[in-house]
Amino acid sequence: SSNQFRSGERTVIEIDGRRIGGEHFSMIAGPCTVESREQVLSTADTVAAAGASMFRGGAYKPRSSPYSFQGLGQEGLHLLAEAKERTGLPIVTELMDARDVEPILEVADVIQVGARNMQNYPLLAEIGRTGRPVLIKRGLSSTLEELLMAAEYVLKEGNPNVMLCERGIRTFETAYRFTLDIMAIPMLKELSHLPVIVDPSHAPGRRDMVLPLSLAAAAAGADGIIVEVHPDPEQAICDGPQQIYADDFASYLEQVERAAAVA
Ligand code: PEP
Ligand code: MN
Repeated sequence: SSNQFRSGERTVIEIDGRRIGGEHFSMIAGPCTVESREQVLSTADTVAAAGASMFRGGAYKPRSSPYSFQGLGQEGLHLLAEAKERTGLPIVTELMDARDVEPILEVADVIQVGARNMQNYPLLAEIGRTGRPVLIKRGLSSTLEELLMAAEYVLKEGNPNVMLCERGIRTFETAYRFTLDIMAIPMLKELSHLPVIVDPSHAPGRRDMVLPLSLAAAAAGADGIIVEVHPDPEQAICDGPQQIYADDFASYLEQVERAAAVA
């Protein structure tokens, strides 16, 4: 059942009564990394109260250096489960290694495939066989066609619940980490019926860019945003400079939803 490059009817993914894609705009928010019980639960409470759709947080982290903190692993998954129990928010968390699929399935309502794993075909096929919704992040130097082919690996196994995520790509520009490819939004929506989610955090690597990029994504027709939020970013173990303050989240969400409503 190839869905390659099909347009027309949009895919709407249902997760715990929430709908992703179609006419619905989704806000997935939470810390880069699960660091502690206090950090996770307080962030979850804040984003839930403001009206976020789902909660994100990494327990297994793809770090550029093997000497950096690699995530809390299983202990992190337990904290995410506690956050869900408390707030009711579905959980989005990354599966880095197909060998960890079982513990991830106990907690993840949406499995995240990181940019660095977008072309890990055995991992994609394994996720396809689980049937669990998946968010696939575009590789750092991947074309849209390569992203769509990664999605096909999941779809081919009979799992239709795929979200595509633009998170910034490598270009010649060095003023920021990655270039957020805004044009990918309308183009992916032309080439595919799958929901398109934008990550405004990892491209700039700095929080002052997160709101303008989110507004641009919403205005360009993104089906949702996945954004990093931390109660105390100065103390964050990972990606501190880009995480928005939990205290600013409600106002941020209100502004982004207004832009999405106009699109
Ligand atoms: C993340 O979302 O935490 C992450 C590591 O993103 P990416 O895979 O896009 O770098
Ligand atoms: Mn991060």
